[in-house]
Amino acid sequence: QNEERLQKVIAQAGLASRRGAEALIVEGRVSVNGQQVKELGTKVRRSDTVAVDGVPIEGRERLVYYLLNKPRGVVTTTQDEKGRATVLDILDDVSQRVYPVGRLDYDTTGALLLTNDGTIANELMHPKSKVDKVYIAKVKGMATENDLLPLKKGVMIEGHKTQPARVSVESVDKTKKTSMVKLIIHEGKNHQVKNMLAKVGFPVEKLKREQYAFLDLVGLQPGEYRKLTNAEVSRLK
Ligand code: URA
Repeated sequence: QNEERLQKVIAQAGLASRRGAEALIVEGRVSVNGQQVKELGTKVRRSDTVAVDGVPIEGRERLVYYLLNKPRGVVTTTQDEKGRATVLDILDDVSQRVYPVGRLDYDTTGALLLTNDGTIANELMHPKSKVDKVYIAKVKGMATENDLLPLKKGVMIEGHKTQPARVSVESVDKTKKTSMVKLIIHEGKNHQVKNMLAKVGFPVEKLKREQYAFLDLVGLQPGEYRKLTNAEVSRLK
């Protein structure tokens, strides 16, 4: 899937006719991911970097995927009118133009995917997408499972009913009168989790996204990021 013949890729980039592209390959002027390729039938994927005479074909930028443990105090937009730091400032050694898949609030921490793969980003962000987003919220008040029951059915927020959420109380601090609540949702509207929990009487003090799809934060401190493995990328698709 998504594989194309090398000569077609070169021809489509306008570098040569199909015939001319074949000649370039045979002459050894074409490389795939830095490796010379002289085989005519070679198939390449969208994520492969094809270069002619060492110059990568434009518009075929290598697709990259990063998982960031977003720290507090950065915005998830690519630009901020108030001049605050953005998540892209953290990924400053990434040369591709990546962008965040969805958003986390300024004060929310946790799993955030960034990529330049528009196809997958759009699929993951689509309202019908069933990606699990796992949040741990520290809330004001001593929550019981019963208190959270409405969230399992759906509550009205700004005229829309939320989809049923999986919710549980992880722990309660009786001295501080706070609770840790776990929420698994698919939706990603603005301030979704904060609004949901406020609606049932538990204002959020701290919010962390522990998992996005199957991607968790193991090995990543806030502010740290890593490339997804090829296996993880395939699993996302
Ligand atoms: N829900 C929120 O309220 N905030 C986030 O950052 C993510 C989900």
